Amino acid sequence: MPQLAPHFAPPLRSRLPAVGTTIFTVMSALAQQHGAINLSQGFPDFDAPAELLDLLDAAARAGHNQYAPMAGLPVLREAIAAKVERLHGAQYDVAHEVTVTAGATQALFTAIAALVHPGDEVIAFTPVYDSYAPSVELQGGKVVYADLAPPAYRPDWAAVAALVTPRTRMIIVNSPHNPTGSVWTPEDLQALADIVRGTDIVILSDEVYEHMVYDGVRHESVMRHPELIERSVVVSSFGKTYHATGWKVAYALAPRELMAEFRKAHQFIVFTVHTPSQVALAAFMQRPGWHEQLLALYQGKRDVFRQALSGSRFELLPCQGTYFQCVKHPDIAGEGDRAFVERLTREHGVAAIPVSAFYPDGRDHGVIRFCFAKSADTLSRALEKLVRL
Ligand code: PMP
Ligand code: GLN
Repeated sequence: MPQLAPHFAPPLRSRLPAVGTTIFTVMSALAQQHGAINLSQGFPDFDAPAELLDLLDAAARAGHNQYAPMAGLPVLREAIAAKVERLHGAQYDVAHEVTVTAGATQALFTAIAALVHPGDEVIAFTPVYDSYAPSVELQGGKVVYADLAPPAYRPDWAAVAALVTPRTRMIIVNSPHNPTGSVWTPEDLQALADIVRGTDIVILSDEVYEHMVYDGVRHESVMRHPELIERSVVVSSFGKTYHATGWKVAYALAPRELMAEFRKAHQFIVFTVHTPSQVALAAFMQRPGWHEQLLALYQGKRDVFRQALSGSRFELLPCQGTYFQCVKHPDIAGEGDRAFVERLTREHGVAAIPVSAFYPDGRDHGVIRFCFAKSADTLSRALEKLVRL
């Protein structure tokens, strides 16, 4: 018998005592264990475009296999800056204000590590994406929550203003919003600007679903607002936009002084990011029409999903953006959302995410989240099961 290593003996004081394994990992594993259709973790079950894969292959074979510059390949940073100028009229200096990261998760973590001091307060909105609070807590910061109340999950700006104290260092915003699919309006950006004016609060804006805003509505990036852009770190992810979540390539944009601090941390957290992916993405970004195709694809999937469930016992909450659809079901109330999704996975073969997992206090409003970034076949098989419930 091989010898097992002894258990860690000295007393261990966890930096994250309340943190377990993320719900995305838990539910994807349960889906796999039961052979269920996985509408839980947010990722496409179809592949990245063949042309992008060819570009990746060509980049690796052309010898782009050593460290890229710390801030990212200039050609990719230029493509990012050109995109945000075209879409939002925002101007970022490619040399000093654009940084390529290893996923949005690393960009968010790096911004927090670079800017939040021990004892600082950070305002975030519940339901909250799961990486924000642990990232703040690892810096010794404290997260203070503003609630987005169901079913519309709109911000209550008077309540947000009341949370601001002299210790508030950062507000983390996320539109289009995971898990609820709600999106912010120009009035929301104005309300946020009114709150932070005259303070030293930095905005960390997680815009990874920027290209998935439906029904002809425009994505309201904080970079469209002249006061907010000055104090914001904006994060987006190529994983969402190019069906390549496993590549873990993303970027951050910020004014020069903020980005200088960001890069001080970035160089020691990851230093630099996978080079061939950067070459491939930069070339692929030159291709016109991708964002429009992506939007049409996901709006079509959202519509199919909603249409199929509209006559069922599931109650559809609004979905204005992202690739997530939140629903209620009469059985959740008695059972609890976690027990419900476990039963749905085990007995009915469809996995989902309980939205209580996005509340630090585990609050259960009887809402679960489905991811519709799946092939037409996967969606139709899942919907066939769901309409019977
Ligand atoms: N923020 C939000 C709101 C997300 O949904 C995700 C991924 N699902 C991320 C950040 C992380 O993105 P990445 O995979 O690029 O790290
Ligand atoms: N953000 C994705 C989701 O919301 C999952 C990413 C992850 O597994 N960490 O499902």
